[in-house]
Amino acid sequence: MKGEEIKSTLMEYNLQSWSKQKSINPISVEKAEGIYFWDYDGNRYSDMSSQLVNMNLGFGNPAISQAIKNQVDQYCFVGPSYGAESRAILAKKIIGLMPDNMGKVFFTNAGAESNENAVKIARMFTGKHKIFSRYRSYHGSSFGAGNLTGEPRRYTLEPGVPGFVKFFDPYVYREGIEFDSEELASSYYLKKLEEQIQYEGPDSVAAIVMETITGSNGILIPPKGYMPGVRALCDKYGILMICDEVMTGWCRTGKMFAFEHFEVKPDIVTFAKGVTCGYVPLGGVVVSKEIAAYFDDNLLSCGLTYSGHPLSCAAGVACVNYYEEADILTNVNKVGQVLGEVLEELKQHHKSVGDVRYIGLFSAVELVKDKETKEPLVPYGKDPKGIMGKITGLLKERKFMTYTHENMVLVAPPLIITEEQLREELKKLDEVLTIVDQELLT
Ligand code: PLP
Repeated sequence: MKGEEIKSTLMEYNLQSWSKQKSINPISVEKAEGIYFWDYDGNRYSDMSSQLVNMNLGFGNPAISQAIKNQVDQYCFVGPSYGAESRAILAKKIIGLMPDNMGKVFFTNAGAESNENAVKIARMFTGKHKIFSRYRSYHGSSFGAGNLTGEPRRYTLEPGVPGFVKFFDPYVYREGIEFDSEELASSYYLKKLEEQIQYEGPDSVAAIVMETITGSNGILIPPKGYMPGVRALCDKYGILMICDEVMTGWCRTGKMFAFEHFEVKPDIVTFAKGVTCGYVPLGGVVVSKEIAAYFDDNLLSCGLTYSGHPLSCAAGVACVNYYEEADILTNVNKVGQVLGEVLEELKQHHKSVGDVRYIGLFSAVELVKDKETKEPLVPYGKDPKGIMGKITGLLKERKFMTYTHENMVLVAPPLIITEEQLREELKKLDEVLTIVDQELLT
């Protein structure tokens, strides 16, 4: 098939996620390499969101492809109860990357499944049922994970499962309070959270689930003291701390896992995406030694046909090795610094840029109608004039491919991007923001 035929066949037979099907317009991809992909007309696009913030090592990494091919040649599949070498190696490697309190990993196929199983494990282990998660969060769209998700993508699941409680993220930019320090901001949010735990009844709360750094909902980086404060509340009330590292894990933020920035040890960590960089699907739930030991004599009531799929685990081993051998963290921190500097310049020069938030190669540009009032460029949950769609369109015309969420543009390129490539791409964003300033603010 050629590009147009692929597109028209998909539009006729395939349902595309999160879309009104009449509005979809897929680019048919003929080849891909590094941070770039090409359509069938030879146009080159830059992947400035690592697809869905998962292709951390970009396209065409030969080490990952070779590991998958080798596993195909040995065998593609044996069930979860059999011994597959790639599964054993990856489980050991992952535990080796975790803090010393972590014990074992349960493999899944994706982020949503990881979060669903984390919730089940937390309920089994604690014997409690309530689960706290945050409004500005995305934890997946399946029924259980969708109940954890706080933003509008959960609405179609409502009225939802009882026992899922939401609290607000530390979104300092929009709090409407000028905090004198990050620590003061943290104590404000922690006090609210503790009050809510008390009102829900601490004896019924099994876990607090958080994206360590809120991702699609705007790269909300917790202020200093917030994560240790949540840890302390969890310890005080016998609640498990679950960090969703599906987006933030695997070097994305400049550490192997984002919780390392805040010097906390979670009880459970969920992951997916960057563990295999999308070459094949894989996710997982890492549990503490204490939780792991509980299941020595208690039934782990979780199961998936493809738990620890040998092909996925082989890709996972190759990715983890590559992160370490190619010293990806050094590149993320070096190029991430440039990303931060350029985003700050964009904020200075464009009246439409209210805030920029960045850590490692994980960033968002928050667009406003007015810097003083911080009125969002589009109202929350609505975009009647399709303004954000116009912005992604303007970026697409320049072959800068990313996605927007609410009034924010996400910039999260593959972690192998060079400084030169990044600067070239950010010039395109600069051009588009000039158009936003001139034409889209009224
Ligand atoms: N958790 C977070 C933080 C995510 O960003 C996502 C997906 O974007 C998920 C969970 C769900 O992952 P999946 O789409 O693999 O089910």
